[in-house]
Amino acid sequence: MEPALGLLCVHAHPDDEVIATGGILARYAVEGLRTAVVTCTNGDRGEIHNMDADATRPRLAEVRRAELAESLRLLGAGEPRLLGYRDSGMLGTPGNDDPASFWRADFDQAVGRLVGQLRAFRPDVLVTYDAFGGYGHPDHLQAHRVALVAAEACAIPALYPDAGDPWRVRKVYLATIPRSAIAAANVELARRGLPSPFGEVQRPEDLPFGTADEELGAVVDVRAQLATKLAALRAHRSQLDPTSFFLNIPADLEELAFGVECFVRQRSDVVASGVEDDLFAGLRP
Ligand SMILES: [Zn+2]
Repeated sequence: MEPALGLLCVHAHPDDEVIATGGILARYAVEGLRTAVVTCTNGDRGEIHNMDADATRPRLAEVRRAELAESLRLLGAGEPRLLGYRDSGMLGTPGNDDPASFWRADFDQAVGRLVGQLRAFRPDVLVTYDAFGGYGHPDHLQAHRVALVAAEACAIPALYPDAGDPWRVRKVYLATIPRSAIAAANVELARRGLPSPFGEVQRPEDLPFGTADEELGAVVDVRAQLATKLAALRAHRSQLDPTSFFLNIPADLEELAFGVECFVRQRSDVVASGVEDDLFAGLRP
């Protein structure tokens, strides 16, 4: 019997797997497909909430690894797969200069580590961030670059010969937020007198980030996975700012905020046109 089709998502920090890809991970796991997450950094420069910050800081990497393990268990995405880098912190902070940070990582070495993960798991579909990394964090930009190069290098036998047998990833997608969705959320939040995490811009064409709707390659309905996705989010307890937007979305807006996941189609080995509603379109037996 052929092994089931596989999805692998490349993320920067523990918790990133939930917002952009928690729905697809949960949905495809329920369908019986193979799913996995590679997390590039240990998240040790993240914020600390709901626990003593000073006591937790030295062991934050360990705490976040346990939270990641629980999130992945809920999503059905196996065990944590870490690339082994330190969190680089937000752009312009001292963490950017740490030689052990992902931002300062030797590019070739980082690609090689991810190629090893890809050749071991053998995904048919790979998902990472768009070129802006969703919101511009250095580790997200680096994850985008490393993942796109690794997705190609993985299939070439002469590259990283010690990292396993070559494997061809057949479709590559970039998780993104459509500008229309951001603008719609801003309009609705303003109407209710609530602050928006995206600023106050209310017209899609005025937004400095996000993706134009005509560039979307796939929009996946994950409303059936909403409860799983929110449970996985809550597993990242150290990261849950009680005042954060994501924890305080009015219940009737949860589907709007979390019910679809959107992607740019970076490349596909199978004929694909228009907006797909399934990342495995064209690959299923
Ligand atoms: Zn992140």
